[in-house]
Amino acid sequence: MGYKADCDGCDSVCYPAPALLCQFSPEFFRTAKLGGVLADMGYEEGDTVTLCGECATRTLKPK
Ligand SMILES: [Zn+2]
Repeated sequence: MGYKADCDGCDSVCYPAPALLCQFSPEFFRTAKLGGVLADMGYEEGDTVTLCGECATRTLKPK
């Protein structure tokens, strides 16, 4: 049994499961300049981000 979740990268439905679930660290949000950028995007420290396989691969692929 899987579960449905919306990808935070492309809004597609991840089924039977998201590829990647990750969480912003509170330390990052409190100390990094990018934490403010993410807050402006509507994220909060401790939020869980869900990514589908394509978005996870695109995000983690070496440049
Ligand atoms: Zn996606």
